[in-house]
Amino acid sequence: MKRNRILLICLFLSITASIIGSAAYSDKTNHTVFVPQYQGKQPKNIILLIGDGMGLTQISAGLYSNNNHLNLEQFPITGLIKTNAHKRLITDSGAAATSFACGCKTYNGAIGVNKNKKPCLSILEQASQNGLATGLIASSSITHATPASFIAHVPDRADMEGIAPFFLQTKLDLLIGGGLNYFRKRRSDAINLYQQMQDAGYQMGNYTENKLSSYKPAGDRPFAWFSADEEPESVGNGRDYLPLAAELAGPFLKKRSPKGFFLMLEGSQIDWACHKNNGPYAIQEMLDFDAAIGAILKFAVADGETLVIVTADHETGGMAIKQGSEMDSLIIGFSTEQHTATMVPVFAYGPGAEQFSGIYENTEIFFKMQALFGFPTTSTDPKK
Ligand code: MG
Ligand code: ZN
Repeated sequence: MKRNRILLICLFLSITASIIGSAAYSDKTNHTVFVPQYQGKQPKNIILLIGDGMGLTQISAGLYSNNNHLNLEQFPITGLIKTNAHKRLITDSGAAATSFACGCKTYNGAIGVNKNKKPCLSILEQASQNGLATGLIASSSITHATPASFIAHVPDRADMEGIAPFFLQTKLDLLIGGGLNYFRKRRSDAINLYQQMQDAGYQMGNYTENKLSSYKPAGDRPFAWFSADEEPESVGNGRDYLPLAAELAGPFLKKRSPKGFFLMLEGSQIDWACHKNNGPYAIQEMLDFDAAIGAILKFAVADGETLVIVTADHETGGMAIKQGSEMDSLIIGFSTEQHTATMVPVFAYGPGAEQFSGIYENTEIFFKMQALFGFPTTSTDPKK
């Protein structure tokens, strides 16, 4: 009896504490988009969102710096992936993105090639060959390791000039990112790939002419917009196109093929911030990526045939939210300037989402997407 009373008092105190707490910040979690009728359905479209370097601490720091909320919270399914590369426990972005793109574990620095440096057919190429529309969007150069691994096949990620011509081999319907110099200005072979894309029917745009917001691509032809000569600015220095690109991508790609589409969008600079051990930069990039996630999720909810997967290639910086932190006022620490081997989360919404719960290898992201699209299985890894 006495014990029950103590329990009641404890309960009362904790309720009081949470009420007092909620006056300071919002503590309601809203799983607004749990849709049981998706169970067992196949998606027509798949959107893969990659937060480069986005571990649980990067997500938590974004959340606690944003009145305790992120769009990520709305995803009904969560999982964890193991990020190791072929031989190295700690992956780079090239090997990790190649695992997502092709389903093979490969060496660090690889772009769309397996451990024997042989080109592997990517999910984006397979989508293109099957008549689906395709898109790549990044807040880095479009030739950078993460987006490049979905379209190019080169043994070394540093070969950005060698990566760019692959954008003419697989004709994307939508390209948004930096790296203009690798397409025209400073190519050592003086080939103007930008002009070639225009000649191939693209509506071309770039930051020197107009902001992304001034383009209204109709969907009657493919669209490419370059956001920088090389690497785009950080969001803190005025970059503002990623959420906008996310907003236009779904409706645009839907118009490009009746068969569906595959889109990869990357929040590229969470990683760069963490390499610099810069907490505020990491938080800004995390929130920018989350805004893009929100725009994609809004499209997917309205569309009803789109699977959205959000994940990371690896964690960067061994980031920690340290003692003395308060809601909306965090003390961030880092344990390294490199990547770490911790598992990273996966979030999924839409038809097929339930397949993304649990703990599995990063290569499984590829195989799950391939199966959900109904594409024939590819044997990209000599061991497979
Ligand atoms: Mg990247
Ligand atoms: Zn990195």
